Amino acid sequence: MHNFDTIIIGGGPSGLQTTHFLSANNLKVALFEKDPGIGMDMVCSGVISKEAFQRFDLLTDSIKGRLKEAGH
Ligand SMILES: Cc1cc2nc3c(=O)[nH]c(=O)nc-3n(C[C@H](O)[C@H](O)[C@H](O)COP(=O)(O)OP(=O)(O)OC[C@H]3O[C@@H](n4cnc5c(N)ncnc54)[C@H](O)[C@@H]3O)c2cc1C
Repeated sequence: MHNFDTIIIGGGPSGLQTTHFLSANNLKVALFEKDPGIGMDMVCSGVISKEAFQRFDLLTDSIKGRLKEAGH
């Protein structure tokens, strides 16, 4: 029997970020992912926002090209 403050369903970017935030604030969190591993079905074509690079101090060597604009 385990006790948790919060249960997160889904280990995608939202679930992982929420788990990280809550754990960093000393809450006991359980994360459930239906796939056998985290990040197995990640849908990403490689576009990462400028904000993500600034916020998470990502290495800029990985940048292959820069978009000037994007539309819907
Ligand atoms: C083709 C495509 C290309 C994309 N390219 C980019 C890109 O280049 N850059 C970018 O920033 N964004 C991109 N996106 C958007 C990006 O994928 C989403 O914004 C992001 O994945 C959303 O994260 P999420 O955690 O909300 O959801 P998800 O990534 O969908 O994560 C949800 C997780 O929950 C799990 N889950 C679902 N149901 C259950 C359940 N009942 N029990 C347990 N686990 C469950 C799933 O397996 C999954 O791991 C792209 C999307 C698509 C479709």
